[in-house]
Amino acid sequence: MHTSILTKYRDPRPPWYTIYPTVPDFSAAVGADDYEEWLGGLPADESVSLYFHIPFCRSMCWYCGFPTAVIRRNGPILNYLAVLRQEISLVSEQVRQGLPVSDVHFGGGTPHLIGPAEHLALMEFLRRHFAFSKTAAIAVEIDPRTFTPEMAEALAANGVNRASIGCRALIPMCKGDQSDPE
Ligand code: SF4
Repeated sequence: MHTSILTKYRDPRPPWYTIYPTVPDFSAAVGADDYEEWLGGLPADESVSLYFHIPFCRSMCWYCGFPTAVIRRNGPILNYLAVLRQEISLVSEQVRQGLPVSDVHFGGGTPHLIGPAEHLALMEFLRRHFAFSKTAAIAVEIDPRTFTPEMAEALAANGVNRASIGCRALIPMCKGDQSDPE
């Protein structure tokens, strides 16, 4: 591998493109005023994408590199959703009214742990604060180990039209396997 590529990507804090500003750009120099200015400066003729991180899982995968916490009870989720609604209100006050939304993504963590009723309430809250396009792509990440038929029905009823399931293939290599495949 070229050392120039290693140099370019050696920052131990990779940019998570679902977060803005991306991780390497977070610092004490970025404050509330900057955030307010960026939100107020969103182009009037463009729609936006919204990302919601639900940082909870029922168990920890040993390869996990995502911001999440293992919880057994739903109390932390409910507390988190209350704060999330406050944040949604604050952000919606800073952007122009009726900001069009073309994409919504629920990531995690395990976003469907919030449960059918809470997901419905969250979607209703979002639709009150932003102008969803009729063709908005609404996506959710799914962990099949904890996904339920009730949650599937609720997501469909809430307009979710895309689901993603992450797969990791972990293949141990022994000395004899290290040559290039033919
Ligand atoms: S389900 Fe995803 S976010 Fe949760 S521990 Fe496993 S890899 Fe991490």
